[in-house]
Amino acid sequence: MKRLAVCGSTGSIGTSTLDVVLRNRSRYEIFALTAHSNVDGLAAQCRVWRPRFAVMSDEPAASRLHEVLSAEASGTRVLAGASGLVQVAAHPDVDYVVAAIVGAAGLMPSLAAARSGKRVLLANKEALVMSGRLFMDAVREGGAELLPIDSEHNAIFQCLPARGSGNAGRGVRRILLTGSGGPFRMRTPESLHGVTPDEACAHPNWSMGRKISIDSATMMNKGLEVIEACWLFDVGPGSVDVVVHPQSVIHSMVEYEDGSVLAQLGNPDMRIPIAHALAWPDRIVSGVVPLDLVSTSRLDFEAPDFGRFPCLRLGFEAARAGGAAPAALNAANEVAVDAFLNRRLRFTHIARVAEATVAACAGGEPRTLDEVLELDALARVRAAEFAAAIPH
Ligand code: NDP
Repeated sequence: MKRLAVCGSTGSIGTSTLDVVLRNRSRYEIFALTAHSNVDGLAAQCRVWRPRFAVMSDEPAASRLHEVLSAEASGTRVLAGASGLVQVAAHPDVDYVVAAIVGAAGLMPSLAAARSGKRVLLANKEALVMSGRLFMDAVREGGAELLPIDSEHNAIFQCLPARGSGNAGRGVRRILLTGSGGPFRMRTPESLHGVTPDEACAHPNWSMGRKISIDSATMMNKGLEVIEACWLFDVGPGSVDVVVHPQSVIHSMVEYEDGSVLAQLGNPDMRIPIAHALAWPDRIVSGVVPLDLVSTSRLDFEAPDFGRFPCLRLGFEAARAGGAAPAALNAANEVAVDAFLNRRLRFTHIARVAEATVAACAGGEPRTLDEVLELDALARVRAAEFAAAIPH
């Protein structure tokens, strides 16, 4: 029986995780659930799962949750703030931590889990992008087991040679990161100026949280994934290619020196990578319907269009530049996406804000947590200034 802390349990990945756990209750126990401000959502999950801890990072929301659960004589203890998140992620009774908080807010609990030697099921790519070296060092030094649940990286993990031997000398030639191209794959850049948040969130294949849905529409998501792949699999950006694959049936591939290409296929449902990472090296049911190749009938592939998707270009450039660029890109993107979702910035200006911020924050790689947080804060200020300066 493995005990889980699900960080970001009210989100899209969090609820998919709980769905997989529900189907495998004899193997997993929910020890802690966390959310930001969704009191009703977390209270409902606590009634079902009766975790030892529930954490709300928003302090007033934590007080409200405490009142709700106390009135019901729930045995769940409510913690508040970033310190509560870190406390459950590092708790000695926790075996697995699902890192499914969106954005930079997920960094501290993910790092705490890595340093405490947990199995870390990583969805929160932003943590790795902003502090890749620090995070991978924490995994190594803490003796943690890092399993990606981002579907592409989970697919790559499944297609790489068995762990323990490393990839050097194992004949891996390239990683082929697939991406659907999002809802605007066929649109011209000029036609995207007036798109609304709801249009941008309407992904053709995946149902996801709003931030990553916008990242998919700009293809910044794929750019961040290039950086994520470099850290997770210890390869340079020159060994990672992006292939547009509109059906989202192949979730990524690994090409070997002998010409073999291994791919992982499945219906586009995050419960597959979640179930894989939970059970690895075993396999468990995920609730996903089996892939019907006959009705799928065709798999298409295209080269990515960097002119149409400047955010993808920025991701590759930041991966190649290293230093401060990945963290600055991540912070700027979070600010720009938030501004777009709140109708303060045009969709097409997200890339402009990101590019200007990366240029303004040039510098060396942050080596400590304080340096990461300082750079993140600086980039956010710059990005907000650039966003405010663009006429809406
Ligand atoms: P959602 O927006 O659906 O959920 C985010 C979760 O994080 C919620 O539980 C939310 O709580 C919590 N949260 C939000 N802000 C904070 C904060 N400041 N501090 C603490 N907790 C916070 O996101 P997704 O599930 O879509 O994505 C989660 C992560 O997984 C992201 O990093 C994303 O890139 C990655 N990912 C997601 C995929 C998907 O299919 N959704 C696929 C691959 C990766 P509340 O409900 O209270 O706001």
